[in-house]
Amino acid sequence: MIKVENLHRHFGGFHAVDGASLEIREGSITGLVGPNGAGKTTLFNVIAGVLPPTSGRVTMAGDDITGMSPHELFHKGLLRTFQIAHEFSSMTVRENLMMVPGSQSGETLWNTWFGRKRIADEERALQAKADEVLEFLTVDHLRDEKAGNLSGGQKKLLELGRTMMVDARIVFLDEVGAGVNRTLLNTIGDAIVRLNKERGYTFCMIEHDMEFIGRLCDPVIVMAEGKVLAEGTIDEIKANEQVIEAYLGT
Ligand code: ADP
Repeated sequence: MIKVENLHRHFGGFHAVDGASLEIREGSITGLVGPNGAGKTTLFNVIAGVLPPTSGRVTMAGDDITGMSPHELFHKGLLRTFQIAHEFSSMTVRENLMMVPGSQSGETLWNTWFGRKRIADEERALQAKADEVLEFLTVDHLRDEKAGNLSGGQKKLLELGRTMMVDARIVFLDEVGAGVNRTLLNTIGDAIVRLNKERGYTFCMIEHDMEFIGRLCDPVIVMAEGKVLAEGTIDEIKANEQVIEAYLGT
């Protein structure tokens, strides 16, 4: 689904991504691991259109998407989760879900004057969708809670929920398990697996928790020093001498 070819991203003279090539198979939950500073986040940001690459190519189902804006990629179904923005913390969980850009037609003057009924219908549809998402994630009890009051793990679930408000095809998750307690981590893991199996989402996730990676991801791609060092099942990765050396070297 995603093919990254010889990608470079330099910051001044520093090569954060230094000729990385990899593929993310459609329908997979692909893990991206590696020591701190390996270039994982930078790679994510380039794929998701947050940073332009210095050179190299990214394609999605054969289409060149190199350097496309997050907005254009969003419409292609490529999403990257972000932490809940500060200004959304005083809104409820349900309202946060409803803020996802997309089909609302409330923006134009024409709609303001003539489309009131349609806007009301769309609002109801968005509410229903948000409620369905909360039920899917088994957190419907948090519907009217202010997002700012959620725990770290609950916020991660909400980030995942936002990808469900649109027709995502591939979702990039950046450390969705970081600082999350075991119970919520299981809820997040289950949601990822169900989205993958039941809704056909492809995932690529940066994660440090090897147990979590091992439970969810196949294959696992290892990056070090801006390049792809190895790819395989979690067991293959753990037994790979180059990988062990890369981790020990940091
Ligand atoms: P990882 O996610 O694997 O820990 P990152 O992609 O965050 O790695 O960072 C790779 C390297 O690039 C790090 O050494 C980091 O300091 C550097 N880096 C990342 N972003 C910038 C930036 N905006 N300006 C300068 N250096 C950066």
